[in-house]
Amino acid sequence: MISIFDIFKIGLGPSSSHTVGPMKAAAEFVENLQKDGKSDKVARIVAETYGSLALTGQGHGTFDAILLGLEGSLPHNVPLADIPKRLERIRSRHELHLNGRTMRFEPEKDLLIHGDELLPKHPNGMRFTAYDAEGKELASQVYYSIGGGFVVTDENFGHETVTAAEVPYPFKNATELLALCRSNQLSISELTLANEMALGNCSEAEVRSRVAGIAEAMEACIKRGMGAEGELPGGLNVRRRAPQLAAKLKALRKTEIVNTQLWPMVFAMAVNEENAAGGRVVTAPTNGAAGIIPAVLHYYRKFNPHATQHLVEDFLLTAGVIGILYKTNASISGADVGCQGEVGVACSMAAGAYAEVIGGTPQQVENAAEMAMEHHLGLTCDPVGGLVQIPCIERNGIAAETALKLGAMALLEDGSNKKVSLDMVIETMLQTGRDMKASYKETSLAGLAVTMKNKAIPISVRVVEC
Ligand code: SF4
Repeated sequence: MISIFDIFKIGLGPSSSHTVGPMKAAAEFVENLQKDGKSDKVARIVAETYGSLALTGQGHGTFDAILLGLEGSLPHNVPLADIPKRLERIRSRHELHLNGRTMRFEPEKDLLIHGDELLPKHPNGMRFTAYDAEGKELASQVYYSIGGGFVVTDENFGHETVTAAEVPYPFKNATELLALCRSNQLSISELTLANEMALGNCSEAEVRSRVAGIAEAMEACIKRGMGAEGELPGGLNVRRRAPQLAAKLKALRKTEIVNTQLWPMVFAMAVNEENAAGGRVVTAPTNGAAGIIPAVLHYYRKFNPHATQHLVEDFLLTAGVIGILYKTNASISGADVGCQGEVGVACSMAAGAYAEVIGGTPQQVENAAEMAMEHHLGLTCDPVGGLVQIPCIERNGIAAETALKLGAMALLEDGSNKKVSLDMVIETMLQTGRDMKASYKETSLAGLAVTMKNKAIPISVRVVEC
């Protein structure tokens, strides 16, 4: 079993697999140097990135994340305001702070980008190597960033989701989860709560308090995104749109043309604009798809008169356990299975969670989650310029609206005439991801990323001719 707190992690943008994961991997490598008593002997560290991390690392902030991780920073607590100054010191003055001392680090020679090479087990591979003053290797470790901020060493690949903790309601798939709910007369959130108490060896109040902290971090992110104007970094000249869209929606309300349907879209865009700007976000289950669950939850809190703090927590417990089903039976990595594994999974989690808090049975929750993934199957990942902006930001908004509709629709039926189960779509999503061309899996080598690049060429030629 994994915990819902492995799914929902407070970190920073723009990508859980390409920013959060690499920072954690780099930090773990230097922490191990310290633990093994080798840190003082290190004269050089080389960080290498492969495959998708190398190809889209510039736009995803991967290389900066690695530099900060080598200085021991972690995504959940790195002070965002200090980042530009620290990167400037490392990149311009070549000074890296390693476990309390300053050593030379030359990014041109020590941060290597292998876009044309893949490590064997996953498209998001990294290798860190430490050398002493004579150039002798002190330590070397391969890591894979496998989506949602999860990082695994080469040796542990495939075993990363196993914990020894016993839970009262163990399940491997949605069928078993539903059977446990039925036989124990529990809702999905009640069952998840009991498992989380066992996993964390803590009380209900402690689990709920942690869940409430996640909900608050999501709310804070929406608030920051709704209040921030300007252009997003990366060179695509993408403007933040959430604040202006919100202002326009409010104006429409004054003229009595109320369209509450568009609000979740704006809330999701606010989160994803924060993410694209490298702000503090919660993986849900990834950074690229971080807007959907907060948007649906915020919409529920704002517009549903029956919403309570207890139900807000139930929402996240339910969403989290649906995320666990995908994580343990398929993948939540765009580099592994395309965007269906990020936005598709987040939509499924949000739809199921929404169904539960508006009164759905476990079967109806399962039905909502299934429908939400069924109609995202095959969704590719083709981020323009390797940035988590186009199509990611709008796509989160659309998925948030879809989740609300499907969550509500699930309650109109009892699910008894269903032909497709959640387990079936999870299996299909994984197989579709396996069949998907590698160029459509977070490489920016296909789809919209290529079309926009090609379109840009004649425009620049025309400008030169003028
Ligand atoms: S297209 Fe989807 S999977 Fe790819 S970076 Fe954007 S949100 Fe993530």
